[in-house]
Amino acid sequence: MSEFLQAKDHRRILHVDIDAFYAQVEMRDNPKLRQVPLGIGRDPDQHHGHGVIATANYIARKAGVHSAMGAIEAKKACPNLVFVAPNFEKYRAISAQIHAIFHEFTDMIEPVALDEAYLDVSANKMAAPTLAAQLRHRIWEETHLTCSVGVSYNKVLAKLGSEHHKPNGVTVIPHDLAQDFMLNLPIRKFRGVGQKTLEKFEKLGVKDGRDLFAMSLDDLRVHFGSFGDVLYWQARATHFSPVKDRSVRQSVGKESTFEFALHDRSQIEAAFKDLAEKVVANMTKRKLLGRTLTVKIRDEQFKTQTKGITQSTTFDLDPAFMARQAMLIFDELYPEEFAIRLLGITFSNIVEQKYEAVSLFDQF
Ligand SMILES: [Mg+2]
Repeated sequence: MSEFLQAKDHRRILHVDIDAFYAQVEMRDNPKLRQVPLGIGRDPDQHHGHGVIATANYIARKAGVHSAMGAIEAKKACPNLVFVAPNFEKYRAISAQIHAIFHEFTDMIEPVALDEAYLDVSANKMAAPTLAAQLRHRIWEETHLTCSVGVSYNKVLAKLGSEHHKPNGVTVIPHDLAQDFMLNLPIRKFRGVGQKTLEKFEKLGVKDGRDLFAMSLDDLRVHFGSFGDVLYWQARATHFSPVKDRSVRQSVGKESTFEFALHDRSQIEAAFKDLAEKVVANMTKRKLLGRTLTVKIRDEQFKTQTKGITQSTTFDLDPAFMARQAMLIFDELYPEEFAIRLLGITFSNIVEQKYEAVSLFDQF
């Protein structure tokens, strides 16, 4: 194996997947649905045979119902299947609740679906399996939903881990077990392997990771093009794709440094006004609002102070108002003479404007 592979990938990544999400939510909210085969989708008898199953509970899955299956086909497989129409608004609200819990553990979150995400918890001091247990506990506590979690050092292994003991399980795949795990994995479970690839592998006599591992990189490229590289490294339990943080930004801010220190209060005021305008423009463009306004001040001795104000509601995006708030903080920190080299204004406790609109509406 090439030399760089001897260096360990030290990341710690969780893959979290709520078990049969839509179905579990409906079972949670209606006890009558808990002991029956349940399909989330429209009843074909009431909708002219149209519709697909978005999710099925585990009772229905045992009868052969699976997601993306046509509703008629599902009913054939399981004649007593109970249909419940999906309520995406409800699922989105629960998803937001779950995401807020993710943020208790890390801000490096890559959502894959409403009920599924990768979390890079490398920066957290606690051991990853402990974090997985805590995360599952928090989700249960807040939402009364169970999930499965995979823990490993890359996304592929974390995802395979969460699939390994489903539902309601945790699978940890540490470095010393990863290679063995991949060697024993059926070929259909490799990432990106669909029906077409599977047929090719069948012809090649490749049934599992062990067979795949035996193939050379050149051979794999001949048969699968650039996907051959992906397969080659997957078989070696190696995958460097980062957790792509697509969650709502945690803060929006702007700083200015001054070549010549500012000594005059009116200069400070003007600088804050300018910063506030830039931050407001950025927030407006991204349709974001913030509840915490933080001011950062660095003086000529390189002493840096930050101080914030948190409101129970979001701040109005009004640069003049923000500049006044910033000045209140400034005057408190520098009541007398000063020589300022840097000023900054940042919004945190960010929410998206659409969520804010919903919560205001709900109060009435
Ligand atoms: Mg799921």
